[in-house]
Amino acid sequence: MVRVTVSLDDLPLRDDLRGLRPYGAPQAPLPVALNVNENTHPVPDAVADDILDDIAVALHEVNRYPDREFTPLREAFASYLGHDLDAANIWAGNGSNEVLQHILQAFAGPGRTVFGFAPTYSMYPLLAQGTGARWVAGERQPDYTVSVDDAVAQVAAADPDVILLCAPNNPTGTPLPLELIEAVYEASRGVVVVDEAYQEFAPHESPSALTLLPGRERLAVSRTMSKAFAFAGARVGYLAADPAFIDALRLVRLPYHLSGLTQAAAVAALRNAPTMLAMVDEIVVQRDRISATLEALGYRPHESWTNFVLFGGVADPAATWRALYDRGVLIRDVGIPGHLRVTAGTEAETTAFLDALASVGSAA
Ligand SMILES: *Cc1c(COP(=O)(O)O)cnc(C)c1O
Repeated sequence: MVRVTVSLDDLPLRDDLRGLRPYGAPQAPLPVALNVNENTHPVPDAVADDILDDIAVALHEVNRYPDREFTPLREAFASYLGHDLDAANIWAGNGSNEVLQHILQAFAGPGRTVFGFAPTYSMYPLLAQGTGARWVAGERQPDYTVSVDDAVAQVAAADPDVILLCAPNNPTGTPLPLELIEAVYEASRGVVVVDEAYQEFAPHESPSALTLLPGRERLAVSRTMSKAFAFAGARVGYLAADPAFIDALRLVRLPYHLSGLTQAAAVAALRNAPTMLAMVDEIVVQRDRISATLEALGYRPHESWTNFVLFGGVADPAATWRALYDRGVLIRDVGIPGHLRVTAGTEAETTAFLDALASVGSAA
């Protein structure tokens, strides 16, 4: 093929996509990768064997399209989540990113607005803009919290079609009280999505927004197997909502969007949920160790209910990120001035990060 060197500007791209930049967490094969909030513990061997058995069975049926309704998987998610949910309340996709995309395809789109309190998950604006909707960034306090009154006022002023509440929030780690979710729901007419990608890392006694679902047909709670479940590479996310909400998502999904192999792997992983989740408490210990050590080094870690820590007091984030990179440790510069974000890894990885940071020098 004759290669013609053109730039994006030379193509008949949609006007509303011009000038946008794709999601771009750097990918680099460093020994200690703590940049995208994965669970760095591999799937235990016994669980991997069990999953492989189910994949082998599914493989014999790949000549046929998979179950379009992925019913066994929806049943498995319903029983994992509890809260009296059943399969009719559940939706799933190739990562919660696809689930969020389905929501925005059904409820956002051209002429509509999507609202979230920034800084928040960097995919929200991209997913909104991908459907032709306008992203409206709300504001947080300097400590990244939002008061209930302020949240209600901002939502009333923006009057959005879709509200994305990341709880706890990425990239800051900040918890979000249920009262705020309730108040935002009451103050809005649009769909309210609570993204609980990190809920399993929150204190055990902290209630999930799943408790708010009864009687709230515009509310959806999304989760992912990418973080707590150590399943990022399998691409499985899901949500719980009113069955009518799920029906709206059926209008926009591609037929057979979840492959038979994915369905088999996820069902088998869920059957092993206690083993898959056994590492969560260990990760929380490392997260709290990171916060305590960062503080001792003079940095300012923010409160985190997730598997990562955002810390301030970094004089030159790009230089510190690079110095860590040169020591084999990959973390994330999320673009917040004076800050960097690090994922809590295994005990050894966490030690490697803390030692590397200490060798770079102390805080600003
Ligand atoms: C990691 C993350 C997700 C999960 O994305 P997947 O597509 O399920 O891998 C969703 N929301 C937030 C806020 C995240 O940080």
